[in-house]
Amino acid sequence: MEQEDQKQDFKMSIYLKNVTYIDWQNHKFTSGNLKIGRGDKGLIEFVDACPDDAVNCQGKIITKSFVCAHHHAYSALARGMPFPEKAPQNFVQILEYIWWNLDKKLDQDMIRASALITALNCLKNGVSFIIDHHASPFAIKNSLEIMAEAFDEIGINHLLCYEISGRDGIEPQQKGLEETEQYLQNHSGLVGLHASFTVGNDLLNAAVKLAEKYNSGIHIHVAEDLADQEACEKEFGCRVIERLDRFGVLNFSKTILGHCIHLNQNERSILADSEAWIAVNTESNLNNNVGLFSNAGSLENKVLLGTDGMHSDMLRSAQYNYFCHKDKDRLSVPDFYKRLRRAHQYLSINNFEGDSENNLVILSYDSPTPVTSENWLGHMFYGLTSNAVESVIVNGEWVVRDRRLVQSDEDEILVFAKEQAVRLWEKL
Ligand SMILES: [Zn+2]
Repeated sequence: MEQEDQKQDFKMSIYLKNVTYIDWQNHKFTSGNLKIGRGDKGLIEFVDACPDDAVNCQGKIITKSFVCAHHHAYSALARGMPFPEKAPQNFVQILEYIWWNLDKKLDQDMIRASALITALNCLKNGVSFIIDHHASPFAIKNSLEIMAEAFDEIGINHLLCYEISGRDGIEPQQKGLEETEQYLQNHSGLVGLHASFTVGNDLLNAAVKLAEKYNSGIHIHVAEDLADQEACEKEFGCRVIERLDRFGVLNFSKTILGHCIHLNQNERSILADSEAWIAVNTESNLNNNVGLFSNAGSLENKVLLGTDGMHSDMLRSAQYNYFCHKDKDRLSVPDFYKRLRRAHQYLSINNFEGDSENNLVILSYDSPTPVTSENWLGHMFYGLTSNAVESVIVNGEWVVRDRRLVQSDEDEILVFAKEQAVRLWEKL
């Protein structure tokens, strides 16, 4: 390469020297100088030549960053909020007293603050892609655009939807459909629905039509609690998966079904033969005392992991999932690692942008024992925590460097979020 060309090339990419890179698919360790290309489809490659000011990563571990397959940014300001006056006694009351009380009070500033905080927390935990399920029944218009702007501003990739439902009457339902369509005209996203028990047949039909029109898929909670099944059997004379199947929800390879805890054998076999994916959220299930997912009936290769808005830490989600499911689902550590990483497959087979190899996390992981290609997964599940996340590169650009956001002022974001949290809690 001519010297001038090389200088130009050095400016176009990030160069890291003395890295230990772990291939996220085969756990192979490679050491050397890493060149990271920019943009949606940027590549990474090991190179001999490196600019003088390349970032020294001696002693650091670099690997692909993480994806959260089911999040609720709208709940980000809930941390530490007052407990409801009446303590919920079951899952539906948890929704009614807590989440449906909170989401109705959200306005545009609060939505923006929630999105900024969620993006900040995700990135600091090494999560570079959020698949979100948003609700703000009395501030629906432009809510997805506000979130997308906030996520873009901080530098995190995303796949958004509005969780439409009939729970607050026909007007919010109609506005949810309109917001979804408006968003899908300009962005890739999903068609969100809350859950079968709050979605009537007309809405379900309209949502599937929208997903078809925009080559999208449905993102919905499924059988998180038995109440969802009971309502479906009572009102529609069938099980939730049977109902979704009849309407065509399961025909989209972009469809994500949250939870899928209370399924019978027939539902499992319908689901196993379908295109849909399942987002499992272990800590949320423990918190709501709704039971745990089971992979029985050949569902394992559909499992993605999310946080359900509990937090933004996918390493933590993977570890909880491992400890709660290892005996129940009869899987090994590599299988649980696949659960953590399967969202990359979901995004790539569906041609979503924003999850290329130039999305990376730089870990400062001081282990008292050797770290090798053979035992790396043992470290991931028994040693590594998100405290090790030092820097994050998204689309080939620095977004977190030495534990600070690069593209936004995080102190300002925290001040703004606290103001909005106080406003929100006063309304609860
Ligand atoms: Zn959820």
